[in-house]
Amino acid sequence: MQKFDAIVIGTGQAGPPLTARLVEAGMKVAVIERKFFGGTCVNTGCIPTKTLVASAYAAHIARRTGDFGLRLHGEIAVDMKAVKARKDAISGQSRMGVERWMKGLKSCTVYLGHARFLSPQEIAVGDQVLTSERVFINVGGRASVQPFPGLKEVKYLTNSSMMEIDFLPEHLVIIGGSYVGLEFAQMYRRFGSAVTVIEMQSRLIAREDEDVSDGVAEILEQEGIEVRLNAKCLSVARQGNGISVAVDCAAGPPQVTGSHLLLAVGRRPNTDDLGVDKAGLAVDERGYIRVDDQLRTNVPGIWALGDCNGKGAFTHTSYNDFEIVAANLLDNDRRSITDRISAYALYIDPPLGRAGMTERQVREQNRPALVATRPMTRVGRAVEKGDTRGFMKVLVDAGDKHILGASILDVGGDEVIHCILDLMYAKARYTVLQRAMHIHPTVSELLPTMMGELRPL
Ligand SMILES: Cc1cc2nc3c(=O)[nH]c(=O)nc-3n(C[C@H](O)[C@H](O)[C@H](O)COP(=O)(O)OP(=O)(O)OC[C@H]3O[C@@H](n4cnc5c(N)ncnc54)[C@H](O)[C@@H]3O)c2cc1C
Repeated sequence: MQKFDAIVIGTGQAGPPLTARLVEAGMKVAVIERKFFGGTCVNTGCIPTKTLVASAYAAHIARRTGDFGLRLHGEIAVDMKAVKARKDAISGQSRMGVERWMKGLKSCTVYLGHARFLSPQEIAVGDQVLTSERVFINVGGRASVQPFPGLKEVKYLTNSSMMEIDFLPEHLVIIGGSYVGLEFAQMYRRFGSAVTVIEMQSRLIAREDEDVSDGVAEILEQEGIEVRLNAKCLSVARQGNGISVAVDCAAGPPQVTGSHLLLAVGRRPNTDDLGVDKAGLAVDERGYIRVDDQLRTNVPGIWALGDCNGKGAFTHTSYNDFEIVAANLLDNDRRSITDRISAYALYIDPPLGRAGMTERQVREQNRPALVATRPMTRVGRAVEKGDTRGFMKVLVDAGDKHILGASILDVGGDEVIHCILDLMYAKARYTVLQRAMHIHPTVSELLPTMMGELRPL
């Protein structure tokens, strides 16, 4: 039995920086990883997908050179092996960086293998047992595979197996019209595949406002992606070398056939094989570990950070979890998850940047509010860049004049949103933004103008 001051399970986005801080604080730490250092973001999530999105963007722009007054002779050919090699190199570099970092830390022992609780303070890795009074769980999640009728008989892909693809699927059928599914949809369409997105809800990314869902659907359909909504009753079957999906929707033929099937229907936490029962950890009905405002579980001495606690599903929420735990534990700085403002992006092109509440949430609260919107056709920077798709929308509390939320679906939307987000963190009134002098020509320069155009919601 090996005794440590702290044990960190998983090297996702919270585990490694926390390990480094614990070591720095003089602790003897064990870190356990069962597969790839860096976890989802580095290996099968953010980094590889955004690298692929960049290749797809280059292909898209290459096809549009005529719009910019350039002549490119010959056809644009996408070399999928080279695209994958670029992705592997960038993602691999990041993975190796995390591995080197962990293995290079003094008083840190790295264990390769699957960790399982034997009791609240004992963890088995292979045939070894580690023990500590402090355990930090950062085990993340994986693609959820729902048992559609026929699924057992067909081959399907998930975000993880998509990373191995080095060829162009003739027709990629994607079940799931949310963040993961839509990024793959546009990417593969731009690489040259036919793409169909099947969504069970009545609109894409259904937790966003209707105008946002419509704007996203318009962008994707304009690029030739077929979208099938209201697919309530799905089943799949083999058809020759490909697959067919029966979609019981109101519109369109009852079946979609394609060469490859990608399931992008949500995520589930990696807690089913962690021995949570042996540790006495409380989990919710979907397996997420219950935590309080400081990421403490119900068991003293055990914390859960990142996707496995259900309090966020992003790299930045996981990293923020690390910051909160480190601040409370090591810096005597009281930080909590209620301090953070919801923020994320959807990396289609143009991207969607989101912060705070949606319009629907504001309306549900019956809150007196103001709203300003601007189509990108009325933003000079977008016109100059040749992409006027999308719009900006900002919501403001009519009483205290604080910003409630924003949806920025446009060229640079993933960056522009931070003008709003930081103002929200500063708890400043919208009038601060209204009076700010922004740089011309940018998309952000229209935010002060929009603040002068607020109207009752
Ligand atoms: C396709 C895709 C695209 C994404 N794009 C973005 C994006 O653009 N921006 C963004 O913010 N987020 C994005 N995300 C989400 C993001 O990847 C995760 O939120 C992020 O990785 C945080 O994960 P984590 O820290 O909870 O753990 P993870 O990164 O999931 O890592 C958990 C680690 O724990 C290990 N592990 C699990 N169980 C055990 C065990 N029992 N023993 C030992 N080790 C174990 C795993 O092997 C893994 O390495 C994306 C996700 C996907 C799937």
